[in-house]
This record gives sequence, C-alpha cells and structure tokens, in this order.
Amino acid sequence: MKIAVIGGAGYIGSHTVRELLDGGHQVFVFDNLSSGLKQNLFPDAHFFHGDILNREDLAIFFNKVQPEGVVHLAALKAAGESMTHPEKFSTQNIVGSLYLIQQAVASKVRYFVFSSSAAVYGAPQYNPIDENHPTNPENYYGYTKLSIENHLAWYSRLKGLHFAALRYFNAAGYDPNSRIIGLESNPSNLIPVAMEALTGKRKELLIFGNDYQTPDGTGVRDYIHVTDLAVGHLMAFDYLKKQKQNLIVNLGTNEGASVLEIVQHAQQITGKILPHRIVDRRPGDPDSLVANPQKAMDILGWQPKYSDLKTILETTWKAYQANL
Ligand code: UDP
Repeated sequence: MKIAVIGGAGYIGSHTVRELLDGGHQVFVFDNLSSGLKQNLFPDAHFFHGDILNREDLAIFFNKVQPEGVVHLAALKAAGESMTHPEKFSTQNIVGSLYLIQQAVASKVRYFVFSSSAAVYGAPQYNPIDENHPTNPENYYGYTKLSIENHLAWYSRLKGLHFAALRYFNAAGYDPNSRIIGLESNPSNLIPVAMEALTGKRKELLIFGNDYQTPDGTGVRDYIHVTDLAVGHLMAFDYLKKQKQNLIVNLGTNEGASVLEIVQHAQQITGKILPHRIVDRRPGDPDSLVANPQKAMDILGWQPKYSDLKTILETTWKAYQANL
C-alpha cells in the first residue's frame, strides 16, 4: 500500500516507517522537523518537508503522492506542558489534525491510523484498563487525542474513511537492529531522562513522588517497546483493508513497572550509578496505568515481542551510547 506517514521523522514515526518498509509498503514521510530528525529518515522512504498547519503543504503533498493510507503522528505529547500551554496543543493537535483529516478525505484516502494515547482514559477506575474503560482525560493532551478520535468517528460516518485509533501506553526502547538512533532533545519521559542522568548529560533523575498507592510508592506504568508499537500500525492497516471497519485498541503489555524498578534495571544493565532524588509529585500523574491489550491480541493477532524491561533498556542504552 502507498502510505503517508505524517510525523515520520519522529521517535515513534521513524520506527513505524521502518516496519512499514520492511512489510513491503511504499512509504512517504511528511514532517516539519520541529522535533523529528533528518537522521531518522530512510533512503527507501520519500521525504517531504511540510507542516500540517499549512494547508498548501498538505495539498501539494497529497496531490503528488495520492496515498491510500495515512499514519498520523504529528503531534505534541508533553502532558505537563499541555496544562500550562493548552493553546499550543489546540493548534497542533486539534487544528492540525483536522486540516490533515480534511485533506485526506479530499484526496480519497481510505485508511487512517491515528496515534492516540492511554491519556484518553484519565485517572484509572480499574487496572488493567481495557477499551471499555470510561474516557475522562486528566490533562489537555489526552483531551486532544480523544477529540480527534471522535472527529475520526464522524468523518468515518459521513465520508466513509476507515480509521484505527491506537491508544499507546508508555512507548520506550529503540530499534533492536540499531537502525534508528536519533535522540529526542529535551526529553521529559522517564526512560530518556534516566539515560541522560546515566550518561552525565543531566545531573540526576528527579522521581516525581514516592507516596503513590503502589508497592514501592513510585508511579507504575506499562512500558511498550516502540518496535512492538510500530508493528501494531502495520497490523492496523491489514485489519482496516480486510475488515473495512474502524478499530480502537490499546497497545500495551499488561505489565506495570515502577519508577524505582526502572532505575534498578537501568543500573543493572548499564553497570552505572543512576543519580536520582525523590521530589514532589507531578500534577496529573495517576498512581498506576496498565493496559489490557487483549483486544489487540484477539483482533489483530498482535503480541509484544520486545517489551520486557531488559530489551527496552538495552536497546535504549545502545542508542544513547551510539551518540556519545
Ligand atoms: N517520572 C519521573 N521523573 C521524570 C519523568 C517521569 O519520576 O523525570 C515518572 C512519572 O511520574 C510517571 C512515570 O515516570 O510515574 C512515567 O512518566 P512519563 O513522563 O515517562 O510518561 P507518562 O506516564 O506521564 O505518559
């Protein structure tokens, strides 16, 4: 299939591009390189430098490529910042996504895969969380994702677009074959921050609270290897093409790890001390967030292969070392 990957130079985007190429698809990357990296582009995927907020860029790209499928990952993702600068998120994540959906519909795109998030659920009423869990985002970022899922449902009803919304849990790790090593600058997620503390790029890891209702008091999350996530996109296209039905699924592992467990594993794997300090909680952080991925397993035949902490941390460490 001819697939346009919007945001294909980013962290999850580049891993998704790699899997789509390996799966035999023709891939066209559209990215404004605001956080995506040239280093993450592959010679076998065509690249177009453009911005989803620029309708002319979108029109030129879609008219030229005429893709059958779209993956949309061009979004801001820092949940904390979405609470202090919501306007940035309204513009990029909502307005930008709507321009893209409108262009996709105008260009007769048939299959649309959207990178959604566990943040659509908000504070969990139970764990592990399945797709029937109420959606009640606790941060504005999660709201933007839920809002676009809802817009896609309307466009599907009104215009016949088939979509899959993949609700990612905590994406982590790097390509096990080391083909992608571009690092995010100024990361705010736990594992990249921990890596920067291990390499000395930052002084220490600040652990946001140790008084949560979890076994060791630190926050528990479901870390999913980015290659497993990427494979989920490939499978979503197969599903949409065969079933012609929309799909909303969690991509996670059903296993939680606490911040302190990540610290311990990272120290063990790297043989280095990870300087860390407990500080206050970060607003909006739930105690524990773990996926029930049964639906993805049953419907897509998806199985996480690389999502054990050892592989996640080893592949990440390898990417950080390659950049030293
Ligand atoms: N966390 C932390 N220090 C950091 C970044 C994250 O203690 O510098 C904790 C955070 O409170 C949460 C977990 O690590 O319990 C995962 O946070 P992250 O920002 O990676 O993902 P989120 O679950 O917020 O999407």
